[in-house]
Amino acid sequence: MEFQPVPLLDLKAQYALIKDEIARALEPLYESQMFVLGPEVQALEDEIAAYSQCRHAIGVTSGTDALLIALMALGVAPGDEVITTAYTFFATAGVIHRLGARPVFVDIEPETFNISPDRVEAAITPKTKAIIPVHLYGQCAEMAPILGVAEKHGLPVIEDAAQAIGAEYQGRRAGSMGTVGCFSFFPTKNLGGFGDGGMVTVNDDALAEKLRVLRVHGMEPKYYHPMVGGNFRLDAIQAAVLRVKLRHLDDWSDARKRNAERYDRLFDNAGLTDGRVVTPPVKQSRHVFNQYVIRVQRRDELKRFLSENGVGCEVYYPVPLHLQECFADLGYKPGDLPVSEEAAQTTLALPIYPELTGEMQARVVDCVARFYNGLDT
Ligand SMILES: *Cc1c(COP(=O)(O)O)cnc(C)c1O
Repeated sequence: MEFQPVPLLDLKAQYALIKDEIARALEPLYESQMFVLGPEVQALEDEIAAYSQCRHAIGVTSGTDALLIALMALGVAPGDEVITTAYTFFATAGVIHRLGARPVFVDIEPETFNISPDRVEAAITPKTKAIIPVHLYGQCAEMAPILGVAEKHGLPVIEDAAQAIGAEYQGRRAGSMGTVGCFSFFPTKNLGGFGDGGMVTVNDDALAEKLRVLRVHGMEPKYYHPMVGGNFRLDAIQAAVLRVKLRHLDDWSDARKRNAERYDRLFDNAGLTDGRVVTPPVKQSRHVFNQYVIRVQRRDELKRFLSENGVGCEVYYPVPLHLQECFADLGYKPGDLPVSEEAAQTTLALPIYPELTGEMQARVVDCVARFYNGLDT
């Protein structure tokens, strides 16, 4: 059978559509030779703040640094505990450890893969300093009960919205609900730059000012350092590229949603939603599908079969964070967070990028069907 490969992501297809716009945005920057912070970054910050329904946005070096600077601004220090999900990209927990604090992992909801609000409250101790829910794959965590628990215990909430720019929970945008919102502009995110980049969003004026000072080595005024920060500055080139892409983001998010709905129908029509394939449910008011992640039987075999047949796919994430080697000292063992462990063994991400065509999606589903039904059907 003739088979055209379907990549997991095709950034070249996106670039082809905006090439001229990008060139026009970059040209004046080259002439200005102003590459770090400056008016282009300020303009992006204003636009992201408005887009994410926040008072302030502060451009930083990456999504990881957005999380790190947020924890620094909130005073997280050695001996503190920070509650987060075991099922996320490593950065969410790595930043907690880097500040000498202890990540306290809680389990997830089986359908959405997002942190389980009930388990958050049970994990609170006198040492708890903050809670980091992650809006995984582009769908917001169940924020109302999490914010309720946080308020009851006087704890700040840091939203890891790295995969969820533009996602909504009860009509509220990701990054606007907690104390701080953290975004990533890594190229594979829904709004991706030409390299690393990130953004912190916040409503509190004093916290915004502190984040701006921490971004430049804790310096205010120039060459005076009331605190120790770092170099967390965003490049103007990234800001210029991101401002062009931001104008297209809603169209791209709509296309991702359309593709997700098409997969749902195709899997149904193929008779695969009988337990062999579980498609991802939309539980919140706007899911932006950074990933379309199915739960499947015989996951590793299916992954191999798809890869061999030219269908891009990936496992996010094969090892939940409480079982990572670097966190062995924390004392978790297999079975402690069963829903996260099960997800790590059964989930598979399929191509969902905006430029993906219906015909390509039909080929993906056909390939999954051939795996389960036997090669010659
Ligand atoms: C990508 C990602 C990050 C880190 O962002 P970088 O820009 O790569 O540093 C953090 N958390 C989650 C959930 C992510 O997906």
